[in-house]
Amino acid sequence: MNDNSNDLSRRNFIKFGGVAAASIAAVGASTMSQSAQAAMVGTKGKANLPKAKGPRLVVVGGGTSGLTIAKYVKKANPKLDVVLVEKRDMYSSCFASNLLYSGMISLEFLADHSFLDAAVNNKYTFFNATVTGLDRAARKLMTNEGEIDYDYLVVAPGIHYDYSRIGVTDPEVEFMLRQNAPGGFVSPTEHITIRDKVRNFEGGTFVITVPGGNYRCLPGPYERGCMVAAAFKKNKVKAKVLVLDHNPNFTIKAAGFSAAYKELYGDYIEYKPSSAIKSVDPVKKVITTEFDTINYDEATIYPGVRGSRLLEALGLMDPKSPQKEALIDDHKYNFPGDDRVYVTGDSRPMGFSKSANTSNTEAKYVAKLIAARSLGKEIDWVSPETICYSMCNAEPGEAISVSARYVYDNAKKAFGFSPDTTMDEHRDVAKGNRLIEWNKGMYRDLFA
Ligand SMILES: Cc1cc2nc3c(=O)[nH]c(=O)nc-3n(C[C@H](O)[C@H](O)[C@H](O)COP(=O)(O)OP(=O)(O)OC[C@H]3O[C@@H](n4cnc5c(N)ncnc54)[C@H](O)[C@@H]3O)c2cc1C
Repeated sequence: MNDNSNDLSRRNFIKFGGVAAASIAAVGASTMSQSAQAAMVGTKGKANLPKAKGPRLVVVGGGTSGLTIAKYVKKANPKLDVVLVEKRDMYSSCFASNLLYSGMISLEFLADHSFLDAAVNNKYTFFNATVTGLDRAARKLMTNEGEIDYDYLVVAPGIHYDYSRIGVTDPEVEFMLRQNAPGGFVSPTEHITIRDKVRNFEGGTFVITVPGGNYRCLPGPYERGCMVAAAFKKNKVKAKVLVLDHNPNFTIKAAGFSAAYKELYGDYIEYKPSSAIKSVDPVKKVITTEFDTINYDEATIYPGVRGSRLLEALGLMDPKSPQKEALIDDHKYNFPGDDRVYVTGDSRPMGFSKSANTSNTEAKYVAKLIAARSLGKEIDWVSPETICYSMCNAEPGEAISVSARYVYDNAKKAFGFSPDTTMDEHRDVAKGNRLIEWNKGMYRDLFA
Protein backbone atom coordinates (compact mmCIF):
# COMPACT_ATOMS: atom_id res chain seq x y z
CA MET A 1 0.00 0.00 0.00
CA ASN A 2 1.32 3.47 -0.78
CA ASP A 3 1.39 6.35 1.70
CA ASN A 4 -1.95 7.68 0.63
CA SER A 5 -3.72 4.37 1.06
CA ASN A 6 -2.26 4.06 4.53
CA ASP A 7 -3.70 7.49 5.18
CA LEU A 8 -7.04 6.27 3.94
CA SER A 9 -6.87 3.22 6.13
CA ARG A 10 -6.04 5.37 9.14
CA ARG A 11 -8.77 7.85 8.28
CA ASN A 12 -11.32 5.06 7.98
CA PHE A 13 -10.31 3.66 11.35
CA ILE A 14 -10.75 7.08 12.89
CA LYS A 15 -13.79 8.21 10.91
CA PHE A 16 -15.80 5.03 11.25
CA GLY A 17 -14.63 4.01 14.70
CA GLY A 18 -17.19 6.39 16.12
CA VAL A 19 -19.98 4.89 14.05
CA ALA A 20 -19.18 1.33 15.07
CA ALA A 21 -18.94 2.33 18.71
CA ALA A 22 -22.23 4.21 18.43
CA SER A 23 -23.87 1.14 16.88
CA ILE A 24 -22.67 -1.04 19.70
CA ALA A 25 -23.94 1.45 22.29
CA ALA A 26 -27.29 1.58 20.53
CA VAL A 27 -27.51 -2.22 20.54
CA GLY A 28 -27.48 -2.21 24.32
CA ALA A 29 -29.80 0.76 24.56
CA SER A 30 -32.43 -0.51 22.14
CA THR A 31 -35.38 -0.87 24.45
CA MET A 32 -38.16 0.31 22.11
CA SER A 33 -40.89 -2.30 21.65
CA GLN A 34 -41.00 -4.05 18.29
CA SER A 35 -44.44 -2.68 17.55
CA ALA A 36 -43.25 0.85 18.34
CA GLN A 37 -40.49 0.33 15.77
CA ALA A 38 -42.89 -0.99 13.15
CA ALA A 39 -43.45 1.46 10.37
CA MET A 40 -46.35 0.97 8.02
CA VAL A 41 -47.25 3.02 4.98
CA GLY A 42 -50.23 2.45 2.68
CA THR A 43 -50.52 -1.34 2.53
CA LYS A 44 -53.62 -3.21 1.47
CA GLY A 45 -54.04 -7.00 1.70
CA LYS A 46 -51.60 -9.73 0.86
CA ALA A 47 -49.25 -9.51 -2.10
CA ASN A 48 -50.34 -11.79 -4.93
CA LEU A 49 -47.40 -14.20 -4.67
CA PRO A 50 -47.15 -17.99 -4.94
CA LYS A 51 -47.55 -19.75 -1.58
CA ALA A 52 -44.24 -20.13 0.28
CA LYS A 53 -42.81 -23.63 -0.17
CA GLY A 54 -40.47 -23.39 2.81
CA PRO A 55 -39.29 -20.77 5.30
CA ARG A 56 -39.51 -17.52 3.34
CA LEU A 57 -36.56 -15.14 2.89
CA VAL A 58 -37.58 -11.79 1.42
CA VAL A 59 -34.73 -9.75 -0.09
CA VAL A 60 -35.36 -6.04 -0.68
CA GLY A 61 -33.33 -4.49 -3.51
CA GLY A 62 -32.18 -6.07 -6.78
CA GLY A 63 -28.78 -4.40 -6.84
CA THR A 64 -25.41 -6.07 -6.37
CA SER A 65 -26.09 -7.12 -2.80
CA GLY A 66 -29.71 -8.29 -3.11
CA LEU A 67 -29.18 -10.25 -6.36
CA THR A 68 -26.20 -12.04 -4.80
CA ILE A 69 -28.03 -12.96 -1.60
CA ALA A 70 -31.12 -14.23 -3.45
CA LYS A 71 -28.92 -16.53 -5.57
CA TYR A 72 -26.46 -17.79 -2.97
CA VAL A 73 -28.90 -18.41 -0.11
CA LYS A 74 -30.70 -20.94 -2.34
CA LYS A 75 -27.40 -22.69 -2.99
CA ALA A 76 -26.71 -22.91 0.76
CA ASN A 77 -30.22 -24.01 1.78
CA PRO A 78 -32.44 -24.95 -1.22
CA LYS A 79 -35.42 -25.40 1.15
CA LEU A 80 -35.67 -21.64 1.67
CA ASP A 81 -38.35 -19.92 -0.42
CA VAL A 82 -36.76 -16.70 -1.72
CA VAL A 83 -38.59 -13.59 -2.98
CA LEU A 84 -36.57 -10.66 -4.38
CA VAL A 85 -38.50 -7.36 -4.19
CA GLU A 86 -37.17 -4.65 -6.52
CA LYS A 87 -38.82 -1.36 -7.45
CA ARG A 88 -37.12 -1.01 -10.86
CA ASP A 89 -38.49 -3.15 -13.68
CA MET A 90 -35.25 -2.92 -15.61
CA TYR A 91 -31.68 -3.39 -14.43
CA SER A 92 -28.73 -1.19 -15.35
CA SER A 93 -25.53 -1.22 -13.33
CA CYS A 94 -23.85 1.72 -11.70
CA PHE A 95 -20.49 -0.02 -11.91
CA ALA A 96 -18.80 0.44 -15.31
CA SER A 97 -21.05 3.43 -16.11
CA ASN A 98 -18.08 5.85 -16.28
CA LEU A 99 -16.98 4.02 -19.45
CA LEU A 100 -20.12 5.30 -21.21
CA TYR A 101 -18.72 8.82 -21.12
CA SER A 102 -15.62 7.96 -23.13
CA GLY A 103 -17.65 5.80 -25.54
CA MET A 104 -15.79 2.62 -24.51
CA ILE A 105 -19.10 0.83 -23.88
CA SER A 106 -22.73 1.34 -24.85
CA LEU A 107 -25.73 1.38 -22.55
CA GLU A 108 -26.39 -2.22 -23.56
CA PHE A 109 -23.26 -3.34 -21.69
CA LEU A 110 -24.79 -2.00 -18.43
CA ALA A 111 -28.43 -2.87 -19.01
CA ASP A 112 -28.69 -6.06 -21.05
CA HIS A 113 -29.43 -8.21 -17.98
CA SER A 114 -32.88 -9.49 -16.96
CA PHE A 115 -34.27 -9.74 -13.42
CA LEU A 116 -36.63 -12.44 -14.70
CA ASP A 117 -33.80 -14.61 -16.05
CA ALA A 118 -31.85 -14.19 -12.80
CA ALA A 119 -34.87 -15.46 -10.85
CA VAL A 120 -35.50 -18.41 -13.19
CA ASN A 121 -31.82 -19.38 -13.35
CA ASN A 122 -31.49 -19.33 -9.58
CA LYS A 123 -34.89 -20.66 -8.51
CA TYR A 124 -36.32 -17.67 -6.68
CA THR A 125 -39.27 -15.33 -7.28
CA PHE A 126 -38.80 -11.81 -8.67
CA PHE A 127 -41.45 -9.41 -7.36
CA ASN A 128 -41.52 -5.98 -9.00
CA ALA A 129 -42.76 -3.72 -6.19
CA THR A 130 -41.71 -0.83 -3.96
CA VAL A 131 -41.23 -1.55 -0.27
CA THR A 132 -42.98 0.97 1.96
CA GLY A 133 -43.11 -0.38 5.52
CA LEU A 134 -42.23 -3.08 7.99
CA ASP A 135 -43.88 -4.67 11.03
CA ARG A 136 -41.06 -6.61 12.66
CA ALA A 137 -43.30 -7.94 15.46
CA ALA A 138 -45.67 -9.54 12.94
CA ARG A 139 -42.86 -10.32 10.42
CA LYS A 140 -44.66 -8.51 7.62
CA LEU A 141 -43.18 -6.36 4.87
CA MET A 142 -45.41 -3.77 3.21
CA THR A 143 -45.13 -2.97 -0.49
CA ASN A 144 -47.20 -0.96 -2.96
CA GLU A 145 -48.36 -4.38 -4.22
CA GLY A 146 -49.47 -5.71 -0.81
CA GLU A 147 -48.00 -7.33 2.31
CA ILE A 148 -45.50 -10.18 2.37
CA ASP A 149 -44.99 -12.45 5.40
CA TYR A 150 -41.37 -13.38 5.96
CA ASP A 151 -39.33 -15.70 8.12
CA TYR A 152 -36.12 -13.84 7.24
CA LEU A 153 -35.68 -10.40 5.71
CA VAL A 154 -32.67 -8.78 4.04
CA VAL A 155 -32.86 -5.08 3.23
CA ALA A 156 -30.29 -3.99 0.61
CA PRO A 157 -31.60 -0.67 -0.77
CA GLY A 158 -28.30 1.11 -1.54
CA ILE A 159 -27.81 4.83 -0.96
CA HIS A 160 -29.46 8.20 -1.37
CA TYR A 161 -27.77 11.53 -2.02
CA ASP A 162 -27.48 14.03 0.81
CA TYR A 163 -27.51 17.53 -0.70
CA SER A 164 -27.30 19.21 2.70
CA ARG A 165 -23.63 18.14 2.71
CA ILE A 166 -22.96 20.76 0.01
CA GLY A 167 -25.05 23.47 1.64
CA VAL A 168 -28.18 22.80 -0.44
CA THR A 169 -31.32 22.65 1.71
CA ASP A 170 -33.85 24.37 -0.59
CA PRO A 171 -35.77 21.63 -2.51
CA GLU A 172 -35.98 23.89 -5.54
CA VAL A 173 -32.21 24.16 -5.77
CA GLU A 174 -31.80 20.46 -5.00
CA PHE A 175 -34.11 19.40 -7.80
CA MET A 176 -32.54 21.78 -10.29
CA LEU A 177 -29.22 20.14 -9.45
CA ARG A 178 -30.64 16.62 -9.60
CA GLN A 179 -31.98 17.34 -13.08
CA ASN A 180 -29.33 19.63 -14.54
CA ALA A 181 -26.13 18.46 -12.87
CA PRO A 182 -26.86 14.87 -11.71
CA GLY A 183 -24.41 13.06 -9.45
CA GLY A 184 -24.34 9.90 -11.59
CA PHE A 185 -23.84 7.55 -8.64
CA VAL A 186 -27.37 6.21 -8.15
CA SER A 187 -29.59 5.75 -11.19
CA PRO A 188 -29.16 4.83 -14.87
CA THR A 189 -31.15 7.84 -16.05
CA GLU A 190 -28.38 10.04 -14.58
CA HIS A 191 -25.78 8.11 -16.58
CA ILE A 192 -27.63 8.81 -19.83
CA THR A 193 -27.92 12.53 -19.03
CA ILE A 194 -24.21 12.79 -18.23
CA ARG A 195 -23.26 10.83 -21.35
CA ASP A 196 -25.29 13.25 -23.47
CA LYS A 197 -23.81 16.30 -21.73
CA VAL A 198 -20.33 14.99 -22.58
CA ARG A 199 -21.32 14.14 -26.18
CA ASN A 200 -22.87 17.55 -26.79
CA PHE A 201 -20.32 19.69 -24.95
CA GLU A 202 -19.02 22.45 -27.19
CA GLY A 203 -16.32 23.84 -24.91
CA GLY A 204 -15.74 25.61 -21.61
CA THR A 205 -15.57 24.29 -18.04
CA PHE A 206 -16.99 20.87 -17.17
CA VAL A 207 -17.00 20.34 -13.38
CA ILE A 208 -16.84 16.94 -11.67
CA THR A 209 -17.12 16.95 -7.87
CA VAL A 210 -15.81 14.48 -5.29
CA PRO A 211 -17.68 14.40 -1.95
CA GLY A 212 -16.41 13.86 1.60
CA GLY A 213 -17.35 10.97 3.92
CA ASN A 214 -17.52 7.31 2.93
CA TYR A 215 -19.13 7.91 -0.46
CA ARG A 216 -20.08 5.22 -3.01
CA CYS A 217 -17.08 4.08 -5.11
CA LEU A 218 -14.08 6.07 -3.83
CA PRO A 219 -12.19 6.06 -7.17
CA GLY A 220 -15.38 6.61 -9.23
CA PRO A 221 -15.27 10.42 -9.54
CA TYR A 222 -11.53 10.42 -10.40
CA GLU A 223 -12.09 7.73 -13.04
CA ARG A 224 -14.95 9.87 -14.37
CA GLY A 225 -12.45 12.74 -14.76
CA CYS A 226 -10.30 10.50 -16.98
CA MET A 227 -13.21 9.23 -19.07
CA VAL A 228 -14.74 12.68 -19.66
CA ALA A 229 -11.32 14.17 -20.52
CA ALA A 230 -10.63 11.24 -22.88
CA ALA A 231 -13.83 12.08 -24.80
CA PHE A 232 -12.90 15.77 -25.09
CA LYS A 233 -9.34 14.92 -26.11
CA LYS A 234 -10.51 12.51 -28.80
CA ASN A 235 -13.08 14.96 -30.18
CA LYS A 236 -10.70 17.93 -29.86
CA VAL A 237 -13.19 19.88 -27.75
CA LYS A 238 -11.67 23.02 -26.17
CA ALA A 239 -12.60 22.10 -22.63
CA LYS A 240 -11.32 22.14 -19.10
CA VAL A 241 -12.39 19.27 -16.82
CA LEU A 242 -12.29 20.74 -13.34
CA VAL A 243 -12.23 18.03 -10.65
CA LEU A 244 -13.26 19.66 -7.38
CA ASP A 245 -12.31 17.37 -4.50
CA HIS A 246 -13.74 17.89 -1.00
CA ASN A 247 -10.76 15.89 0.32
CA PRO A 248 -7.16 17.09 0.76
CA ASN A 249 -5.91 14.53 -1.77
CA PHE A 250 -7.21 11.71 -3.98
CA THR A 251 -8.97 9.36 -1.52
CA ILE A 252 -7.53 6.27 -3.23
CA LYS A 253 -5.04 5.28 -5.99
CA ALA A 254 -3.51 8.77 -5.70
CA ALA A 255 -0.30 8.00 -7.57
CA GLY A 256 -2.13 6.31 -10.45
CA PHE A 257 -4.72 9.04 -10.90
CA SER A 258 -2.31 11.95 -10.55
CA ALA A 259 0.01 10.33 -13.14
CA ALA A 260 -2.92 9.86 -15.53
CA TYR A 261 -4.14 13.42 -15.02
CA LYS A 262 -0.65 14.82 -15.76
CA GLU A 263 0.56 12.45 -18.45
CA LEU A 264 -2.65 11.86 -20.42
CA TYR A 265 -4.77 14.92 -19.75
CA GLY A 266 -2.33 17.71 -18.82
CA ASP A 267 -4.13 20.08 -21.24
CA TYR A 268 -7.59 19.07 -20.09
CA ILE A 269 -7.85 18.26 -16.37
CA GLU A 270 -7.36 20.66 -13.51
CA TYR A 271 -7.45 18.91 -10.12
CA LYS A 272 -8.37 21.04 -7.09
CA PRO A 273 -8.16 19.28 -3.70
CA SER A 274 -9.60 20.72 -0.43
CA SER A 275 -12.54 22.17 -2.37
CA ALA A 276 -15.45 21.52 -0.02
CA ILE A 277 -18.57 22.95 -1.65
CA LYS A 278 -20.40 25.54 0.45
CA SER A 279 -23.20 26.39 -2.00
CA VAL A 280 -24.28 25.99 -5.62
CA ASP A 281 -26.36 28.31 -7.77
CA PRO A 282 -27.68 26.10 -10.60
CA VAL A 283 -29.27 29.05 -12.42
CA LYS A 284 -26.12 31.14 -12.67
CA LYS A 285 -24.01 27.94 -12.75
CA VAL A 286 -21.76 29.01 -9.90
CA ILE A 287 -20.14 26.81 -7.24
CA THR A 288 -18.78 28.40 -4.08
CA THR A 289 -16.10 26.68 -2.01
CA GLU A 290 -14.30 28.02 1.04
CA PHE A 291 -11.59 29.52 -1.19
CA ASP A 292 -13.09 29.95 -4.68
CA THR A 293 -16.06 31.02 -6.72
CA ILE A 294 -16.25 28.84 -9.82
CA ASN A 295 -18.30 29.43 -12.96
CA TYR A 296 -19.11 26.31 -14.93
CA ASP A 297 -20.76 25.42 -18.24
CA GLU A 298 -21.72 21.85 -17.35
CA ALA A 299 -21.34 19.85 -14.17
CA THR A 300 -21.93 16.51 -12.54
CA ILE A 301 -22.30 17.29 -8.86
CA TYR A 302 -21.92 14.33 -6.49
CA PRO A 303 -23.23 15.77 -3.23
CA GLY A 304 -22.34 13.18 -0.58
CA VAL A 305 -24.26 10.07 0.40
CA ARG A 306 -26.37 8.65 3.18
CA GLY A 307 -27.95 5.22 3.74
CA SER A 308 -31.15 4.73 1.76
CA ARG A 309 -34.11 6.64 3.19
CA LEU A 310 -35.94 3.28 3.23
CA LEU A 311 -33.98 2.42 6.38
CA GLU A 312 -35.71 5.29 8.18
CA ALA A 313 -39.15 4.25 6.94
CA LEU A 314 -38.55 0.67 8.16
CA GLY A 315 -37.14 1.70 11.56
CA LEU A 316 -33.71 0.22 10.69
CA MET A 317 -31.61 3.40 10.64
CA ASP A 318 -29.10 4.14 13.39
CA PRO A 319 -30.14 7.60 14.67
CA LYS A 320 -26.52 8.20 15.73
CA SER A 321 -25.02 7.36 12.34
CA PRO A 322 -23.42 10.41 10.67
CA GLN A 323 -24.37 9.04 7.23
CA LYS A 324 -27.79 7.74 8.41
CA GLU A 325 -26.76 4.14 7.84
CA ALA A 326 -28.22 0.93 9.27
CA LEU A 327 -28.35 -0.15 12.90
CA ILE A 328 -26.95 -3.68 12.65
CA ASP A 329 -24.43 -5.99 14.28
CA ASP A 330 -21.19 -5.21 12.46
CA HIS A 331 -20.20 -8.88 12.04
CA LYS A 332 -23.59 -10.59 11.73
CA TYR A 333 -25.56 -7.86 9.92
CA ASN A 334 -28.80 -8.45 11.86
CA PHE A 335 -30.81 -5.70 13.55
CA PRO A 336 -29.99 -5.73 17.30
CA GLY A 337 -31.98 -8.44 19.07
CA ASP A 338 -33.68 -9.63 15.86
CA ASP A 339 -31.89 -12.40 13.95
CA ARG A 340 -34.67 -12.40 11.32
CA VAL A 341 -33.83 -8.95 9.87
CA TYR A 342 -30.57 -7.99 8.10
CA VAL A 343 -29.22 -4.96 6.25
CA THR A 344 -26.44 -5.35 3.65
CA GLY A 345 -24.73 -3.50 0.80
CA ASP A 346 -24.00 0.22 0.66
CA SER A 347 -26.50 0.96 3.49
CA ARG A 348 -24.26 -0.84 6.00
CA PRO A 349 -22.57 1.34 8.66
CA MET A 350 -19.17 -0.41 8.58
CA GLY A 351 -16.42 1.61 6.92
CA PHE A 352 -15.93 -0.84 4.04
CA SER A 353 -15.60 0.54 0.54
CA LYS A 354 -19.07 1.09 -0.91
CA SER A 355 -18.44 -0.90 -4.06
CA ALA A 356 -19.80 -3.80 -6.04
CA ASN A 357 -17.13 -6.41 -5.28
CA THR A 358 -17.47 -5.57 -1.58
CA SER A 359 -21.28 -5.91 -1.72
CA ASN A 360 -21.05 -9.12 -3.74
CA THR A 361 -18.56 -10.92 -1.46
CA GLU A 362 -20.26 -9.61 1.70
CA ALA A 363 -23.61 -10.90 0.38
CA LYS A 364 -22.15 -14.39 -0.17
CA TYR A 365 -21.17 -14.49 3.51
CA VAL A 366 -24.56 -13.16 4.69
CA ALA A 367 -26.37 -15.67 2.44
CA LYS A 368 -24.41 -18.52 4.08
CA LEU A 369 -25.06 -17.05 7.53
CA ILE A 370 -28.85 -16.85 7.02
CA ALA A 371 -28.92 -20.34 5.49
CA ALA A 372 -26.97 -21.65 8.51
CA ARG A 373 -29.23 -19.87 10.98
CA SER A 374 -32.31 -21.24 9.22
CA LEU A 375 -30.85 -24.68 10.08
CA GLY A 376 -30.05 -23.71 13.68
CA LYS A 377 -26.29 -23.24 13.04
CA GLU A 378 -23.79 -20.34 13.12
CA ILE A 379 -20.78 -19.59 10.90
CA ASP A 380 -17.66 -17.47 11.45
CA TRP A 381 -17.37 -13.96 10.02
CA VAL A 382 -15.61 -13.69 6.65
CA SER A 383 -14.20 -10.38 5.43
CA PRO A 384 -15.68 -8.84 2.29
CA GLU A 385 -13.19 -8.30 -0.51
CA THR A 386 -12.79 -5.02 -2.34
CA ILE A 387 -11.41 -5.44 -5.86
CA CYS A 388 -11.73 -2.32 -7.91
CA TYR A 389 -10.27 -1.42 -11.30
CA SER A 390 -10.34 2.17 -12.59
CA MET A 391 -10.03 2.99 -16.28
CA CYS A 392 -7.55 5.83 -16.83
CA ASN A 393 -7.09 5.78 -20.60
CA ALA A 394 -9.69 5.03 -23.26
CA GLU A 395 -7.60 4.34 -26.38
CA PRO A 396 -6.06 1.97 -25.50
CA GLY A 397 -8.03 1.01 -22.38
CA GLU A 398 -5.54 1.19 -19.50
CA ALA A 399 -6.48 0.71 -15.86
CA ILE A 400 -5.15 0.73 -12.30
CA SER A 401 -6.44 -1.38 -9.41
CA VAL A 402 -6.80 -2.02 -5.69
CA SER A 403 -7.47 -5.24 -3.84
CA ALA A 404 -8.27 -5.24 -0.11
CA ARG A 405 -9.81 -7.19 2.73
CA TYR A 406 -10.65 -5.90 6.20
CA VAL A 407 -9.59 -6.61 9.76
CA TYR A 408 -11.39 -5.65 12.95
CA ASP A 409 -9.58 -3.58 15.54
CA ASN A 410 -11.05 -4.63 18.88
CA ALA A 411 -9.68 -1.62 20.73
CA LYS A 412 -11.15 0.86 18.24
CA LYS A 413 -14.23 -1.24 17.51
CA ALA A 414 -13.82 -0.48 13.82
CA PHE A 415 -12.62 -2.08 10.60
CA GLY A 416 -9.55 -1.08 8.60
CA PHE A 417 -7.74 -2.46 5.55
CA SER A 418 -5.90 -5.74 6.16
CA PRO A 419 -2.11 -5.71 5.77
CA ASP A 420 -2.26 -7.70 2.51
CA THR A 421 -4.01 -4.82 0.69
CA THR A 422 -2.41 -4.14 -2.68
CA MET A 423 -2.57 -1.13 -4.96
CA ASP A 424 -1.40 -1.54 -8.54
CA GLU A 425 -1.17 2.04 -9.74
CA HIS A 426 0.82 1.49 -12.92
CA ARG A 427 -1.80 1.84 -15.65
CA ASP A 428 -1.67 -0.74 -18.41
CA VAL A 429 -3.74 -2.55 -21.01
CA ALA A 430 -3.64 -5.86 -19.11
CA LYS A 431 -5.56 -4.26 -16.23
CA GLY A 432 -7.81 -2.46 -18.72
CA ASN A 433 -8.78 -5.87 -20.11
CA ARG A 434 -9.19 -7.28 -16.61
CA LEU A 435 -11.56 -4.41 -15.78
CA ILE A 436 -13.86 -5.40 -18.65
CA GLU A 437 -13.64 -9.08 -17.66
CA TRP A 438 -14.38 -8.24 -14.00
CA ASN A 439 -17.58 -6.45 -15.05
CA LYS A 440 -18.68 -9.33 -17.29
CA GLY A 441 -17.93 -11.78 -14.46
CA MET A 442 -20.01 -9.71 -12.05
CA TYR A 443 -23.01 -9.70 -14.42
CA ARG A 444 -22.64 -13.50 -14.80
CA ASP A 445 -22.52 -13.92 -11.03
CA LEU A 446 -25.66 -11.81 -10.51
CA PHE A 447 -27.78 -13.07 -13.40
CA ALA A 448 -26.64 -16.48 -14.71
C1 LIG B 1 -20.31 5.51 -11.59
C2 LIG B 1 -20.10 4.32 -10.71
C3 LIG B 1 -18.97 3.55 -10.87
C4 LIG B 1 -18.75 2.46 -10.04
N1 LIG B 1 -17.65 1.70 -10.26
C5 LIG B 1 -17.45 0.61 -9.51
C6 LIG B 1 -16.34 -0.24 -9.76
O1 LIG B 1 -15.56 -0.01 -10.69
N2 LIG B 1 -16.15 -1.31 -8.97
C7 LIG B 1 -16.99 -1.60 -7.94
O2 LIG B 1 -16.75 -2.60 -7.24
N3 LIG B 1 -18.06 -0.82 -7.67
C8 LIG B 1 -18.32 0.27 -8.42
N4 LIG B 1 -19.40 1.07 -8.17
C9 LIG B 1 -20.19 0.88 -6.95
C10 LIG B 1 -21.26 -0.20 -7.01
O3 LIG B 1 -22.07 -0.06 -8.15
C11 LIG B 1 -22.14 -0.11 -5.75
O4 LIG B 1 -21.37 0.12 -4.61
C12 LIG B 1 -22.89 -1.42 -5.53
O5 LIG B 1 -23.61 -1.77 -6.69
C13 LIG B 1 -23.84 -1.29 -4.34
O6 LIG B 1 -24.70 -2.39 -4.27
P1 LIG B 1 -26.02 -2.33 -3.39
O7 LIG B 1 -26.74 -3.61 -3.67
O8 LIG B 1 -25.73 -1.96 -2.00
O9 LIG B 1 -26.87 -1.10 -3.97
P2 LIG B 1 -27.57 -0.94 -5.38
O10 LIG B 1 -26.82 -1.68 -6.42
O11 LIG B 1 -27.78 0.52 -5.56
O12 LIG B 1 -28.99 -1.66 -5.23
C14 LIG B 1 -30.03 -1.17 -4.43
C15 LIG B 1 -31.35 -1.64 -5.06
O13 LIG B 1 -32.41 -1.44 -4.14
C16 LIG B 1 -33.55 -1.02 -4.87
N5 LIG B 1 -34.46 -0.35 -3.95
C17 LIG B 1 -34.20 0.77 -3.22
N6 LIG B 1 -35.30 1.11 -2.49
C18 LIG B 1 -36.24 0.17 -2.73
C19 LIG B 1 -37.60 -0.01 -2.27
N7 LIG B 1 -38.17 0.85 -1.44
N8 LIG B 1 -38.28 -1.07 -2.73
C20 LIG B 1 -37.72 -1.94 -3.63
N9 LIG B 1 -36.46 -1.81 -4.11
C21 LIG B 1 -35.72 -0.77 -3.66
C22 LIG B 1 -32.94 -0.09 -5.92
O14 LIG B 1 -33.83 0.13 -6.99
C23 LIG B 1 -31.69 -0.83 -6.33
O15 LIG B 1 -31.92 -1.72 -7.40
C24 LIG B 1 -19.67 2.14 -9.01
C25 LIG B 1 -20.82 2.91 -8.86
C26 LIG B 1 -21.04 3.98 -9.72
C27 LIG B 1 -22.31 4.77 -9.57
